[in-house]
Amino acid sequence: MKKILVTGALGQIGSEIVMSMRKTYGEDNVIASSRSKGKNDVAETGIFEIVDVTKAQQVADAVKKHKIDTIIHLAAILSATGENNPAAAWDVNMNGLYNVLEVARESQCAVCTPSSIAVFGPSTPKDNTPQNTLMRPTTMYGVTKVAGELLCDYYFQKYNVDTRGMRFPGLISNVALPGGGTTDYAVHIYYEALKNKKYTCFLEKGTYMDMMYMPDALDAIVQLMEADPSKLVDRNAFNITAMSFDPEEISAEIKKHIPAFEMDYDVNTNIQKIADSWPNSLDDTEARKQWGWNPKYDLAAMTKDMLDKLSLKLN
Ligand code: NAD
Repeated sequence: MKKILVTGALGQIGSEIVMSMRKTYGEDNVIASSRSKGKNDVAETGIFEIVDVTKAQQVADAVKKHKIDTIIHLAAILSATGENNPAAAWDVNMNGLYNVLEVARESQCAVCTPSSIAVFGPSTPKDNTPQNTLMRPTTMYGVTKVAGELLCDYYFQKYNVDTRGMRFPGLISNVALPGGGTTDYAVHIYYEALKNKKYTCFLEKGTYMDMMYMPDALDAIVQLMEADPSKLVDRNAFNITAMSFDPEEISAEIKKHIPAFEMDYDVNTNIQKIADSWPNSLDDTEARKQWGWNPKYDLAAMTKDMLDKLSLKLN
């Protein structure tokens, strides 16, 4: 049985993956960690360690103490937050990853860490974007994510560290709120639709981006982590997607369930600029071929499930 350390475990992905992996791998085999202990099921219901990933010794101590063999590295500063504080994004996303990889090398751990559609930039082909293409991102987040993919490849090629990673699109979940990303509107819209039947969108109509419902994202991490290494031609930069839509399409889907729902726009030009630099839709053929990626939720199925689950939560 694997012994897994999850960094950044109190965030949007961590809050869900820790709880679901504790069911699969056993309560004591999934150690959650973050730089401070918040009030959160993840921290309160199982083993939790304080690990600031920018402090190499804290990563090493947690790995040694719990005899970790697999690190799921989620600690990061996301796109919109990163643009407000590029120095922090560089420090956490680069030095944090470097520390995790060094500890993995020394302790022979596997590392699974998500990259992002933010690796692409304005010169990248926008539609059906290939996995290997022009990558000149214009955000600090994107810069750190491309460099991170390369660093993970390097540790695999040079030191044989079992590194794996996928490029997540915008993730939509009904559990934890997102951590300051460009696609966050696609989560907020469901909350506001249920609470106020009204949402003011910070992106323009016609802004298409790839998205994914969290249950598919959690499956992706476990599937890639468990994939047969002999089938993996690539390692750290798998395009994956489940759907692509713009604000009008998600709004129209919500209206099918809440006919009174109305959306207007108040565009945030800084975030719009980031969105405009990202693809409209990704080609995820390699993930499908190499490790069986096959998402379950499209926009209609996700919207129904989001509204069902959130209305229970908000009532
Ligand atoms: P999040 O912002 O919700 O969570 C990240 C967590 O890391 C936060 O709880 C934060 O407190 C913690 N953290 C920050 N600095 C830290 C440090 N120095 N040490 C330890 N913890 C620290 O992010 P998320 O959505 O859960 O993202 C997890 C990973 O997935 C990231 O690598 C992110 O780039 C990637 N990703 C997420 C999305 C998305 O839409 N959520 C999309 C693409 C890629």
